[in-house]
Amino acid sequence: MHPTQTPKTYRVKSFGCQMNVYDGDRMAELLAEQGIAPAPEGEDADLVVLNTCHIREKAAEKVYSDIGRLKREDGSSPLIAVAGCVAQAEGEEIMARAPSVKMVVGPQAYHRLPDMIREASEGRRVTDTDMPAETKFDALPRRRRSGPTAFLTVQEGCDKFCTYCVVPYTRGAEVSRPHGDLIEEAKRLVEAGAREITLLGQNVNAWTGENARGQTIGLDGLIRELAQIADLARIRYTTSHPNDMTPGLIAAHGEIDKLMPFLHLPVQAGNDRVLKAMNRSHSAESYLKILEQVRAARPDIALSGDFIVGFPGETDTEFEDTLKLVDAVGYAQCFSFKYSPRPGTPAATMDEQVPLAVMDERLQRLQAALNRDQYAFNTATVGKTCTVLVERKGKLPGQWLGKSPWLQSVHFEADAQVGDLVEVEITSAGPNSLGAVVRMVAAA
Ligand code: SAM
Ligand code: SF4
Repeated sequence: MHPTQTPKTYRVKSFGCQMNVYDGDRMAELLAEQGIAPAPEGEDADLVVLNTCHIREKAAEKVYSDIGRLKREDGSSPLIAVAGCVAQAEGEEIMARAPSVKMVVGPQAYHRLPDMIREASEGRRVTDTDMPAETKFDALPRRRRSGPTAFLTVQEGCDKFCTYCVVPYTRGAEVSRPHGDLIEEAKRLVEAGAREITLLGQNVNAWTGENARGQTIGLDGLIRELAQIADLARIRYTTSHPNDMTPGLIAAHGEIDKLMPFLHLPVQAGNDRVLKAMNRSHSAESYLKILEQVRAARPDIALSGDFIVGFPGETDTEFEDTLKLVDAVGYAQCFSFKYSPRPGTPAATMDEQVPLAVMDERLQRLQAALNRDQYAFNTATVGKTCTVLVERKGKLPGQWLGKSPWLQSVHFEADAQVGDLVEVEITSAGPNSLGAVVRMVAAA
């Protein structure tokens, strides 16, 4: 495509967290509404949106190599828009470093993409990293398509300011979307085919709103109302902060059948000095206490978390406390990362940055413990009967893939279709997935 023509096809490529996946889907809907079609698989797109993540160093570097790879053999490039958190944090640098990028758009401004595309099609380079008062959600098209599982962003931004994290700077202050808008969007997603909705937020459990009777409710209240949507079978939420695990939300795990028995509750480290330096405002003990309460409410709950190894100043003994916490919890699955200094965050300039080799060694030890526990959790589900939501075909003929209530991937053979809820007995366990035989299929 010549740079001064309006694009006819698009491709959106999202990196990083599930909130970016949600934003990427919404951008795709917005572009489709402008009459721009998704580029067929394997074909060049006229417009490429790179929806970036800034949480760790390599993610940002990947964007630059992706921009390079978009260059065609004849030297031309598609119309490139860089969106997401790298755009927010490094917009000017991107414009200076990558001349083929024509648009830079922050996570709170992407509803303005159609205007930006018009300007870029006329040959101008445009940056919009505003955090406007009007919300992008009001300007986005209504949801019309959905697979069996859907994301629904209910809350954005963060006021917690953990000392290692860029999110409060790239996504702005904590904002909850209004209750009515969320109920409406959830209903539309269900009408469009969703059977499971995952509520998303940087601190999803900080969500608060006013219900139709004018009462202030928290995330548990919202989940209770969503559970009334007849054809919605499953509800999940992520990511939560330990300090926002209210008694009501903990109790909801024991009271709402549609709320799946899975909780992702990042702790980051097991040592209190490190947690304090991270500005986490919870201790290892208070975190374990919350998990104890959640387990009392829902004994079969699968627990998940995030960890950072090698935070500045973390000693070997302090790292051992993280391993102890892992042993105490017995997680079903986790994410673990090497600390990555993020420009502009307090931790980036702290003394005693931990050498890479030490971080590598700690991460290996932590991941060995987490993998051991994940395999043990999977093995413990063998012999259990549960429902699986069918998400897609497997590699083998007649094979289907779906998720257990505990978010494990399950494969099985069945006469089923995408969106069915299938009752299975788990018959085998591997480190990353389960095998099962079907007992009953409930049609979508
Ligand atoms: N709000 C969530 C919470 O409080 O746990 C986490 C959201 S953050 C987008 C996802 C994860 O990225 C964090 O839980 C943390 O483990 C990891 N992370 C954030 N900043 C990081 C950094 N500078 N280096 C390494 N990992 C980081
Ligand atoms: Fe980042 Fe901490 Fe906010 Fe989570 S709570 S998004 S880790 S600042």
